[in-house]
Amino acid sequence: MSTSYDLIVIGTGPGGYVCAIRAAQLGMKVAVVEKRGTHGGTCLNVGCIPSKALLHASEAYAEATEHFAEMGIKVKPELDLAAMLAFKDEGVKGNVDGIEYLLKKNKIDAYVGLGTILAPHQVEVTPEKGGKQTLETKAIVIATGSEVAHVPGIDVDEKRIVSSTGALSLPKVPKRLIVIGGGYIGLELGSVWSRLESEVTVVEMLHTITPGLDGEVAKQLQKILKKQGLTFKLGAKVTGVDTSGKSVKLTIEPAEGGKAETLECDVVLVSIGRVPNTGSLGLANVGVETHARGRIVVDHHFQTNVPGIYAIGDVIAGPMLAHKAEEEGVAVAEILAGQSGHVNYDVIPSVVYTAPEVASVGKTEEQLKEDGIAYKAGKFPFTANGRAKVNRTTEGFVKVLADAVTDRVLGVHIIGPDAGTMIAEAAVLMEFGGSAEDLARTCHAHPTLNESVKEAALAVDKRPIHM
Ligand code: FAD
Repeated sequence: MSTSYDLIVIGTGPGGYVCAIRAAQLGMKVAVVEKRGTHGGTCLNVGCIPSKALLHASEAYAEATEHFAEMGIKVKPELDLAAMLAFKDEGVKGNVDGIEYLLKKNKIDAYVGLGTILAPHQVEVTPEKGGKQTLETKAIVIATGSEVAHVPGIDVDEKRIVSSTGALSLPKVPKRLIVIGGGYIGLELGSVWSRLESEVTVVEMLHTITPGLDGEVAKQLQKILKKQGLTFKLGAKVTGVDTSGKSVKLTIEPAEGGKAETLECDVVLVSIGRVPNTGSLGLANVGVETHARGRIVVDHHFQTNVPGIYAIGDVIAGPMLAHKAEEEGVAVAEILAGQSGHVNYDVIPSVVYTAPEVASVGKTEEQLKEDGIAYKAGKFPFTANGRAKVNRTTEGFVKVLADAVTDRVLGVHIIGPDAGTMIAEAAVLMEFGGSAEDLARTCHAHPTLNESVKEAALAVDKRPIHM
């Protein structure tokens, strides 16, 4: 392999590998450096992909247990957890192998080892075994992602106190699971184990789950998850953990102070967020600037304060999402090739893969109010959608928020079946600056769940047909 490149990307998560492929497509000589034995980063190895495999399998189990009979299907499901975990692992392997194939196909040199920046145009690779290597490059893209954030005083042993990584591979269903943190990762993994019949309690410091979601949607989600058996302790902070006994004892207190309470469980999942992964990069060698919270500071072209060194994905500001990292990867590769790559941060969808799913893009009602923007809201419930009715998946609604003057769509929020897939049409519409009237006048196939999106757009002008 050559040791001199146009571009070296450090980290092959969704940001890094996508950036490398796009740069190779544009004619650059590219290398990637990845410390993990497999490509795909957090997302493919211990994040999006394994969690979705378990969400899919556990949802099928719950469906078979609770709903097959009403469709005239008689089965008595029995859980084989080892097989379910193997199903997840095979899915992960298929995905990470796919990235290796894509890197080869695009003639990208892949180095396995820790990447450290020695100088603005020099990256050192330290493999687990064997000698170090120094690579020369015109540009460096840092795509080293993020790692689990820890609660001070709570040590994760990945057995009884687990992070999201441990929660993806528990060898047995815990009788009682406590999830610290009511964000999307905690709720998704809490849902998995709840469906497999664990008693799940979510402890959240704020008075709402999924901070940042539209308030009405978050409330509805909590109601639905409660009905599914999850218990919520909101406005509560964890002040102590005791693992000396047979069960784990967690002390919680009202966030604003007050009487403490002790909760017992078998496993605690710590899911309070993620922190940028910059520790091993040698940023100090070259003086790359970071924010107080450790994220790398970049300009509109993703360039750090050091010319020639760029950063994308979870390691910089913005939502910690795989598709945001991918968009930035494409944009920076195009910028390096002299094109005008950019990311539209106003149209980044986000999805919570619970059942039902929650998906949103654009502004929430709270944000519009805070920004003083006059808006019209149109809402349509899935109880009035023919397909949802016949499938008996009627929980939830679609909400379209449009500018009161121009009718331009500013936000769409869906809680309901397949919301994560449905949100794409809203994202496309918003990318083109479309109005609620555009959405309302677009012919939607019948019978589909997406008809609810059209109806919500009609409801913006108070003329839904089926309500
Ligand atoms: P990462 O995917 O974190 O990849 C960074 C890579 O850099 C890693 O492979 C790491 O080993 C490597 N690395 C770090 N330092 C070095 C170094 N010095 N040298 C060499 N290599 C290095 N997002 C979604 O959009 N949808 C989801 O459904 C979703 N589900 C999630 C579920 C869970 C349980 C978790 C934990 C996360 C989930 N995410 C999801 C978030 C998503 O995984 C991240 O936003 C995404 O992976 C960020 O991509 P990235 O390329 O910035 O970094």
